[in-house]
Amino acid sequence: MTELDLTLDLTSDVAELTRALCDVESVSGAEGPLADAVEAALRRLGHLQVVRDGDAVVARTALGRPERVVLAGHLDTVPVAGNLPARFEGDLLVGRGTADMKGGVAVQLKVAAALAAPSRDVTYVFYDGEEVDAARNGLGRLARMHPAWLEADLAVLLEPTAAGIEGGCNGTLRAEVVTRGLAAHSARWWRGRNAVHEAGRVLARLQAYQPREVEVEGLVYREGLNAVGISGGIAGNVIPDTCTVSVNYRFAPDKTLAAAGEHVREVFDGYEVTIVDGADGARPGLDRPAAAAFVAALGAEPTAKYGWTDVARFSALGVPAVNFGPGDPSVAHADDEHVPVAQLHACERAFLTWLG
Ligand SMILES: [Zn+2]
Repeated sequence: MTELDLTLDLTSDVAELTRALCDVESVSGAEGPLADAVEAALRRLGHLQVVRDGDAVVARTALGRPERVVLAGHLDTVPVAGNLPARFEGDLLVGRGTADMKGGVAVQLKVAAALAAPSRDVTYVFYDGEEVDAARNGLGRLARMHPAWLEADLAVLLEPTAAGIEGGCNGTLRAEVVTRGLAAHSARWWRGRNAVHEAGRVLARLQAYQPREVEVEGLVYREGLNAVGISGGIAGNVIPDTCTVSVNYRFAPDKTLAAAGEHVREVFDGYEVTIVDGADGARPGLDRPAAAAFVAALGAEPTAKYGWTDVARFSALGVPAVNFGPGDPSVAHADDEHVPVAQLHACERAFLTWLG
């Protein structure tokens, strides 16, 4: 094996550091070389305790401050699409990982290097496997194997939010609603009962459904209950005896997954309902002192996060979490993925102000 000589220079400008991070390809499952480089750079700083699990690296100050905060980011990206090496184009840095989320990782590293004695103790978390199925998620693995490494009063995930604060996230649940009928030859249809026709009543309930808008700790979460699939019928001459409507419920974080399941069962009362999978949402935690100080330091108005994100993993550990990072989330995973250089600087400044 050849050792890759890869030294990250944490004194370089945050945009230059982002470019260097992007140019170390780290598609999910191949984060090793980047994790090695990040670990080595953090160890060289000398003022952090550094530990590692697989390709996740955790570094922390231990100054005995009354509050501890986590700054977290994932090291992996979706596959490269001819968009590396990264390059500067005007005010933008363009390339795979610039927005999702090596710009955020660069900010973490800059803050880690700049603040030997931050105003709050800080735990920097760099993890693998975010862009693939949940079972491979490095943050989930840390939460299972080393929950103490993630203990904090507040976590900030530096996922791209265009440098705005997004608090908490909606939960998500998938259910299958099944209608039953009686199979018959379609030539003698009156001997059967059509399960697909019956599914029309299920769809009518969905059409009539009024999703809630829910305020949680000052942020408004918009819920949704939608059919995302339907299947029924086995042949062109058979009255179907079964029809399955797949439903996705996005629910505000004032509700547990169990309560969300109960709600879905109520909506489809009279039908067979199977909960297929789901995940709790996350409360924004903006009522916590650490979070309030963060919002005040940034002077930004927080908004609600609708999609499910890894903040929910912190929330499950009792750590409120927000998203705040450079880059427009809508260009994450796009071939022309990019980050405005000004947002990299703005995010870096924000953390230095808050924790300096
Ligand atoms: Zn991401």
